[in-house]
Amino acid sequence: MAKQSVALLGLGTMGSGMAANLLKAGFPLAVWNRTAAKAEPLAKKGARIASTPADAAKGAQVVVAMLADDAASRHVWLGENGALAAAEKSAVLIDCSTVSPAWISELSSHAAQRGLHLLDAPVTGSRTHAEAGQLSFLVGGDEATLNSVWPVLESMSKEIVLLGPIGSGAKLKLINNFLCAVQVASLAEGLTWIERSGLDRDKALAFLKAGAPGSPLLGSISARMTAEDYTVNFFLRLMAKDIRYAENEAASCDVELSTALAARRLFENAVEQGYGDKDMSAVIEPLRNK
Ligand code: NAP
Repeated sequence: MAKQSVALLGLGTMGSGMAANLLKAGFPLAVWNRTAAKAEPLAKKGARIASTPADAAKGAQVVVAMLADDAASRHVWLGENGALAAAEKSAVLIDCSTVSPAWISELSSHAAQRGLHLLDAPVTGSRTHAEAGQLSFLVGGDEATLNSVWPVLESMSKEIVLLGPIGSGAKLKLINNFLCAVQVASLAEGLTWIERSGLDRDKALAFLKAGAPGSPLLGSISARMTAEDYTVNFFLRLMAKDIRYAENEAASCDVELSTALAARRLFENAVEQGYGDKDMSAVIEPLRNK
């Protein structure tokens, strides 16, 4: 069977790897990015570079967005030369960005007005997982729609989980990142404490990693913090955004995320001190330098 034609909007840390895997799997691909230069390596691999989101969406059976936040997603779907108005009548729209459930709900109404099917499908995994086609997709929407685009998501993933109606992916993704943010913030404080305590840092960390506080996140982030290697896997400013979205969403369920508030203070302070465009593990640096 012929491969579905795909448009991918947003070629940042994650979108670039996702696009490369779509091409590798043989999907005809149109790409668009606000900063056009990021599309060039993909053109060399066979992608068509579109001039606008609308141009990318024209003729595509599946339109995928991987953008920074609510504002970026709104702009690309609904703004001038936006993808939604230009999408083909039978196209399936998939927003993979980490955005608020409130925005997904609004976007879903716009899609429904045009009779288009929408899935929210944010991901877990980072830059290396996007490059390796090993993302996990957390999907909200209806099963038949998901099945119709399964091969597209499969080419970028190790796992696809249908969680429930539209918005379900966005909700679980924010819970996921709330838990990650709190752990990274507490690790930043704990590691700063270890470094000032007179303990042997490597021995202390090895013990913690093997013990009850150990987790894949603690392992990878503590390695970057100790190496002071802040090559971007996940921009620190995006984690600050995710904590804000998580707090708002939990508040709508009458849950106060007091631990998120503490973590947000650390991430926002790091953004103010110029670490927003570094990897999120740089959240330790303002603590170290105090
Ligand atoms: P990124 O590298 O910052 O890329 C963001 C993308 O959004 C870029 O293509 C950027 O375009 C575009 N963008 C930003 N503002 C825009 C606007 N106003 N109009 C149009 N385009 C705009 O982020 P990323 O790491 O790829 O993450 C993408 C999404 O996935 C985010 O929601 C993030 O929270 C989530 N996520 C990231 C990771 C990770 O580990 N990196 C993991 C899971 C989920 P330019 O290139 O022009 O700036």
